[in-house]
Amino acid sequence: MAENKRDYYEVLGVSKGASADEIKKAYRRLAKQYHPDMNPGDATAEVKFKEVNEAYDVLSDEEKRHKYDQYGHAAFDPSSGGGPGFGGFGGFGGSDFDFGDIFSSFFGGGSTTRSNRNAPVAGDDVGVRVTVTFDEAVFGCKKEISFARIEECPECNATGAAKGTRPETCNRCRGSGTVTVQQQTMLGYMQTQRACPECRGSGKIIKTPCKNCNGKAFIRINKKLDVTIPAGIDSMQRIILRGQGSAGRNGGRAGDLIIEVRVKEHKIFTRSGNNIYCEIPISFTEAALGAEIDIPVLGDKTEKYTIPEGTQTGTTFTLRGKGIPDVNSKKKGDLVITVVVETPKDLNAEQKKLLVKLSESLGEDNTGKKKSFFKKIFN
Ligand SMILES: [Zn+2]
Ligand SMILES: [Zn+2]
Repeated sequence: MAENKRDYYEVLGVSKGASADEIKKAYRRLAKQYHPDMNPGDATAEVKFKEVNEAYDVLSDEEKRHKYDQYGHAAFDPSSGGGPGFGGFGGFGGSDFDFGDIFSSFFGGGSTTRSNRNAPVAGDDVGVRVTVTFDEAVFGCKKEISFARIEECPECNATGAAKGTRPETCNRCRGSGTVTVQQQTMLGYMQTQRACPECRGSGKIIKTPCKNCNGKAFIRINKKLDVTIPAGIDSMQRIILRGQGSAGRNGGRAGDLIIEVRVKEHKIFTRSGNNIYCEIPISFTEAALGAEIDIPVLGDKTEKYTIPEGTQTGTTFTLRGKGIPDVNSKKKGDLVITVVVETPKDLNAEQKKLLVKLSESLGEDNTGKKKSFFKKIFN
C-alpha cells in the first residue's frame, strides 16, 4: 500500500534537490548492486531492484517527478481512489436483518491490489434512505424502496458478447491475460510481465459486444423492493439486506443493500431512545382539586389518568411500558407526561368575584412556597 512505500529520493539515496545527473548516477550504481543477475536467488535484492527501478522511473521523468513532489506516492498509486475492500462474511437473503450502527466494520476494509484481473471481486454496497412517519417507526411497516444496483447483464449472461457469439481467447496472450515484454535499459535487455494490451488482461476478446451492456457484461438496473421496517426503529438506524447490493465479479459475492431510516417528527410526542415525552395542559381547578384527565398514547388513542389534588405546573408523571418497543428486545420504553397548569383568562364579573372570594377564604396566600420566598427577602 502507498503509505508503506519508501520515499523515492530515499530509495536512490539522493537529496530532494538532486540534479538529473545525480539521480542517473545513483540509479546506475544501485541497479547494478541489486540486479538479479548479480544476486541470483536473493529475494531481498530482487525487491530492492524493483524499488530502485520504480523510483528512477519517476524521478528521471521531469513531469512525473514534479507530480511526485506535489502528491507523493498517491500520484501514481492505481489503488488510491478505488473502492474499499470488504472482509469476507457469508449470509445472503432478504430476511437477514441487522440493526444499529455496525457499519464501521465493513467500511474500514483494506484496499486490495488487483494484480489479477480475473480474481473474484465483491460487489459494491448500495445505500438508500427511507423516510417513515413516527407511527410507522413505532409499529413497524412495509415500505417499497427504489434503488439502482449493478447486475449481471441478462442479455449476454454476463459474457459481454452479443447473442449467438462468445468471447474468444486472446491470441496475443493465449488467454493468460499477461504478456512478457523485452525492454532495453542501460543495463541491457530486461524482461517484465505486463497486462496484455490486446485484451486488457482479461485473456478474452469480444468481437461483437452485447448491445444491452456495451460489452461490459454488467448493467445498472433500477430495482424496487418491499422492505419490512421493524417496530421500534429510530432515525439514523440502518437495515442491512445481505447480498441485495451490486453483483460481484468473477464469482465474488454481491454487496449489501443498506437502508438508512429517517423518522418524521410527531405532532405532540418527542422521542428519546425508547421513551416518549409530551406536555399536557390542565386547568387551574383540575390542578387544585385533582382530576381524571385524558392523556394521549401511541396510535392516536387516549387513556384516562388520575392526577392528584394540589398538582403543580411542570410536574411529570411516568407511565411505564407506554413508550416505544425496543427494535431488538421489543421491551417497551415509558411515556413521560409533563402537566402545564393554565391560568384562567377572560373571566366574567361573576367568576372574578368568585375568585376574589376564594382568595379571601385562602387567606393572604396558601402556598408554603410563597411565604418562605418572601421570608427570604424580608427577614
Ligand atoms: Zn450484455
Ligand atoms: Zn490478451
